[in-house]
Amino acid sequence: GTIRVVSGSDVSASLFDRARAVSPGGVNSPVRAFKAVGGTPRFMSSASGSWLTDADGNRYVDLVASWGPMLLGHAHPEVVAAVQAAAARGTSFGTPSEPEVELAEEIVARTPVDLVRMVSSGTEATMSAIRLARGFTGRDVVVKFAGCYHGHVDSLLAEAGSGVVTFGLPGTPGVPDAFTAETLVLPYNDPAAVRAVFSEHGDRIACVITEAAAGNMGAVAPEPGFNAFLARTCREHGALFVSDEVMTGFRASRQGYWGIDGAVEGWAPDLMTFGKVMGGGFPAAAFGGREDVMRMLAPEGPVYQAGTLSGNPVATTAGLTTLRLATDEVYTHLDDLASTIQTMLRDALGAAGVPHVVQSAGTLFSPYLGRTEPVRDFSDAQDQDPAAYRAFFHAMLEHGVYLPPSSYEAWFVSDSLDDDALDQIEKALSAAAPAAAAA
Ligand code: PMP
Repeated sequence: GTIRVVSGSDVSASLFDRARAVSPGGVNSPVRAFKAVGGTPRFMSSASGSWLTDADGNRYVDLVASWGPMLLGHAHPEVVAAVQAAAARGTSFGTPSEPEVELAEEIVARTPVDLVRMVSSGTEATMSAIRLARGFTGRDVVVKFAGCYHGHVDSLLAEAGSGVVTFGLPGTPGVPDAFTAETLVLPYNDPAAVRAVFSEHGDRIACVITEAAAGNMGAVAPEPGFNAFLARTCREHGALFVSDEVMTGFRASRQGYWGIDGAVEGWAPDLMTFGKVMGGGFPAAAFGGREDVMRMLAPEGPVYQAGTLSGNPVATTAGLTTLRLATDEVYTHLDDLASTIQTMLRDALGAAGVPHVVQSAGTLFSPYLGRTEPVRDFSDAQDQDPAAYRAFFHAMLEHGVYLPPSSYEAWFVSDSLDDDALDQIEKALSAAAPAAAAA
């Protein structure tokens, strides 16, 4: 068969010029600007199932899925219909409404949280969870792991993954030192470092926050027992264990990463954060957890947290409809797709002689080019070949496959990937792997 080749990006280029004239970097979230890989970001004009169509009319198989939310694929007819009906009933009431109750019930049914509070972004969810952990414990110190990204919360921007590492920023100007002074950053997957920090500061630690599985330095799974160890250590010291499932929630399994981790081992986090899939492509996110902790929130308790659009009826309808369609069969299919694509990737890179490791964490996965040893933590993740990824990324793009424009991001599958899409990926890989080898 023929390889579909992208024809040009003139319209995207002119939109990018206009965008740069009116907004910093021409984007509303940094990684979208293609700064790490170079070239013109593609301005998408529509999407359906697993295909994106850009402003020049080029089509791409989408392996970003809006950075996670589009579990079922784009413009799923049942989600679109539910959203249209909800919008026609009114887009925001500023009062409680039924869809947010139904979505909360669905989250409580799937996860170990007793109560949830809805917000509009993952950043808000982690920010609020940290505030609540501090309010509940009366302590200030937060422990996080290098390479984990929890949104752009001031105190969590220390040695963060995702765009922060993509642009080589150690932290960011605009965050007072005093804010990150209360944040202790440890290497991921390192129980000895956790033990050491608790023996020195145990009675000052409000919480440990971690991605349930790291997906913002590429995909780095917690080693077996690591999350359980964190939960246990927190409990021994009166700190809370906050598991950030913004990326993995309702994606790694029906119950998120916890479903293949804590649910099997018999432990639960004190607080969890969710976003992405639970909003079905709309701004909806949440945090939840133990009843005694959650009841500290206003209006029941003194810890303040609020939002004009929190629990928005259109956003929660999109999320609820998505979750109701995300059956066990969907998760089995996602697992199969993730392993099929990983095999294709290893085969193509191997055939072209590109040194690589392909790692997974649940259905998240990513390649590290230019190394052959597993990646366990952030310093390992930084030991990869950015030039090889740049060449690989652009060859995939030219051959109609949209990958994350950074080698510090996981790839995301959607239930809508069909044989056509897989065929396109396989053909693109046969061109992109040699391009990576030549870089
Ligand atoms: N936590 C994790 C684990 C994430 O991956 C992200 C976003 N990629 C966030 C928090 C922040 O979510 P948002 O971009 O919706 O603010």
